[in-house]
Amino acid sequence: MKRTISAVLLFTAALILLIGCGQSGATFADGSFTGSGRGHHGDIKVEVTIESGSIASIDVLENPENKVLSAPVYEKLSKAMIDSNSADVDAVSGASDSSRGFTEAVADALKKSNPDAVQEGSSDKQTAKLLSEEELEQSYDVVIIGAGGAGLTAAVSAAAEGASVAVLEKMPAPGGNTLISGGGLNVPGSWMQEKHGITDSVETYVADTLKGGDNEGEAELVQVMAENALETAEWLRDDIGMVFLDRVQQFGGHSVPRALIPEGNSGEQMTLKLMDKGKTLGVDLKTSTEAHSLIQDDAGMITGVLATNSAGQEISFLAEKAVIVAAGGFGSNVEMRMSYNPEYDEKYMSTCLPGITGDGIAMATAADAGTTDMSFIQTYPTCNPVTGIISYVANSRFYGAILVNKEGKRFINEMGRRDKVSKEILAQSGKTAYLLWDDAVESKSKMIEMHPEEYKSLVEEKLICKADSLTEAAEYFGIDASELEKSLARYNSFKGSADADFGRGGSLVSFEKAPFYIQKVVPSVHHTMGGLKINTDAQVLDADGNPIPRLYAAGEVAGGIHGTNRLGGNAITDCVVFGRIAGSNAAK
Ligand code: ADP
Repeated sequence: MKRTISAVLLFTAALILLIGCGQSGATFADGSFTGSGRGHHGDIKVEVTIESGSIASIDVLENPENKVLSAPVYEKLSKAMIDSNSADVDAVSGASDSSRGFTEAVADALKKSNPDAVQEGSSDKQTAKLLSEEELEQSYDVVIIGAGGAGLTAAVSAAAEGASVAVLEKMPAPGGNTLISGGGLNVPGSWMQEKHGITDSVETYVADTLKGGDNEGEAELVQVMAENALETAEWLRDDIGMVFLDRVQQFGGHSVPRALIPEGNSGEQMTLKLMDKGKTLGVDLKTSTEAHSLIQDDAGMITGVLATNSAGQEISFLAEKAVIVAAGGFGSNVEMRMSYNPEYDEKYMSTCLPGITGDGIAMATAADAGTTDMSFIQTYPTCNPVTGIISYVANSRFYGAILVNKEGKRFINEMGRRDKVSKEILAQSGKTAYLLWDDAVESKSKMIEMHPEEYKSLVEEKLICKADSLTEAAEYFGIDASELEKSLARYNSFKGSADADFGRGGSLVSFEKAPFYIQKVVPSVHHTMGGLKINTDAQVLDADGNPIPRLYAAGEVAGGIHGTNRLGGNAITDCVVFGRIAGSNAAK
């Protein structure tokens, strides 16, 4: 009898341990616990619920990261954490900052449940699903590399023509640089220009774009972009369902305001709506799938793409009709930047996502594609000095904000070309500038209202100050206050006339009363103008100008359109116009 009781007790104890500990051996106290961890843009806050000693659910309470990019990362990590009853899981590749912040946040919450049960460090747990032998070769009409603006547009266009389409995306989430952009696109003659009484034409747009790139851009490609811009914008509005703000923005280098701005002032709406449209048309989107080479037959024809999934398996994606390279530029690849232009070494951060490493250019050149303009690399003038990412709050510049230096002086036409403004900022003390505006500019631009999370993290990082006086604004960054006062008084005197110092165009505003906003900004590598040689049909050309059979390219991966310098709002127009051309030609 005694032996029987002991056996039952032992069995029960083992069962409790098994239920309570999960795979990690950790026993947590039941309840809900909150924790926080540092992501790329700020603190991620989670609530972890423990039931019967195990992680039952993880809810994200606060998420400063990009919503579209971080959603699949949190989903993957949560699943792995619930399965292993531990925060000790592998990071999702391509999303290290968000993975780290989320993992730290969950570990922080678990520590509150049981400080002894949380192991630090990472393990080798494999969370990726293995594909079967048959799945390692897949066949489609059109295979697209990259799920940014150009890739998703091409996918929808090819699928709308009846093609079966796979889009390979190396990151855990689609969107690319398009997703994290402001989403503005230049459209001459748009319904919004008409509404706001702005006169424009294809010819003026072509002239501005060519001039903005020092006449190095290929006129034929620019013409195609400009002629198709309106129809493309109408397609985005009517077929894709995009909604635009009731405004037309003028980026530097354009002679009139001509950029449509999507609701939300970001690339998120376009990314999500193109994904939805693709889904209804049967497009297969393969995330965490990195293309590494093109398959080419003996005649030089492109017949598919070799890629690797997150489990490390190589998959052949055979393309019955064509391959479209839409893998973006190379702004995040410092080595590649330096190989084409040594100026752009690691002293420059980048506004680009980590996956923007020039893979498409490498793959296509290995298949004999020609390249053009590779040394033309652009910086965006007003970026976050800590992370290098673009500041949308600082786009108040387009609505009247001025740039000053540490000495309290203006030094440039703030509406000038990106390359020129960037260069001048780098020539100021500390290679830094300060952007100054007031509530009147803010109520017109609504940049803080539209980007509240960015503003919050700028405040936390002490990179922006809302000041009750000009002196307070100056002192916050150690700027010469009396010079700043003089500079502002002079600038205010230009109101209603012309900027006699730097020739800022448009109607000048004056800054009369507090509160003032002042923000620290630096230039950061933003766009690589060079890339694969293409023709007006988006076919990739070899070094001699002959099309490579069945190979198309669109978006930032293609070169030759923007010359030495891409104007604001031209990237989205470029990638949607040429994405549509590539998609429909590939499907033929
Ligand atoms: P574009 O504006 O030209 O569309 P984006 O930067 O928006 O360019 O998108 C490019 C996309 O291509 C990004 O999402 C990036 O992660 C993806 N990408 C880059 N290299 C590869 C690769 N080797 N395999 C799959 N996807 C890739």
